[in-house]
Amino acid sequence: MMLAALLMMTPIASAQAANPAEDAPARPGRGGPVEGRPKEARATRAEADQTGPAWAGRAGSTALGGVGRGQRAHVVRPGDTLAKVAKRHGVRIADLREWNRLGKGYQLQVDGMLRLTAPATPLPAWRTRTETVTATEANGDPAKACPVQPSDLRRIWVRYIDYQGVARNGSLIMHRSMAVPTQRAFAKLYHWRFPIMVMQPIAVNMPTLTDKSVLTSGYECRYVAGTTTWSQHSYGLAVDVNPRQNPMIRGSYPNHTYLDPPNSATWLARERYWPGMVHAEGAARAFTANGFAWGGRWTTLLDYMHFSTTDR
Ligand SMILES: [Zn+2]
Repeated sequence: MMLAALLMMTPIASAQAANPAEDAPARPGRGGPVEGRPKEARATRAEADQTGPAWAGRAGSTALGGVGRGQRAHVVRPGDTLAKVAKRHGVRIADLREWNRLGKGYQLQVDGMLRLTAPATPLPAWRTRTETVTATEANGDPAKACPVQPSDLRRIWVRYIDYQGVARNGSLIMHRSMAVPTQRAFAKLYHWRFPIMVMQPIAVNMPTLTDKSVLTSGYECRYVAGTTTWSQHSYGLAVDVNPRQNPMIRGSYPNHTYLDPPNSATWLARERYWPGMVHAEGAARAFTANGFAWGGRWTTLLDYMHFSTTDR
């Protein structure tokens, strides 16, 4: 746990540097960014620096592993109410509402993560946009014989909440037919305050980051592991959410034959409610309500990160 937490610090820091808060990269001639707000971006980045250590926590209880006593966030679990959460952490209900921007009548959602401190700036409204992609952007190598034409793919920008509770702009690539359901699912996750570690298309990944296990992403031109069958990701019909916290496992731990990512065994204890974990009664509903099936319901293998319209 301790070691895992320490190892995670560097990729996350670099991932966040690459996905700055409120700072979609400008792409002249292709729609461009949605209303750039550099002033707010600076504020939220400063806030991330400020709250980072507190959220990352002391060794043994980190924002990645869980939110324990003394942590500055609470992950909503079944049966939670605002009153219960407030009492447990010694804060006022009104403050919880304000810090997390929960409107009157807001229903807590399982897997959502509530701040227990005031943010530097209020959480902005959700926003999204789509743009076309080139073969290079989609696959790195335009000569790759992938099953879907790049012209049928879209890069979908969505605002998400990261593990620091800060709003960021991330993107994933999906088949164009999936743009609307994908946007709807991520709008729900934002509204539910579900944290996502980082979002970036697989082919782009992060500068200096070779470990893809932290990426929430969609399209990827590849075979199903161990086969020569195209993955549903190759068609842009599948999304993986917070892979490290929602692993794929074949067989039973510790006698499993496959675990992806390999260092995710800590998160196989699915009765836990830690930041970024997907549960049937929680974050999974954002996708299942929009036409996706969840790999967490499979039987021959379990793929907690995976949502697809084809149930494969
Ligand atoms: Zn997947």
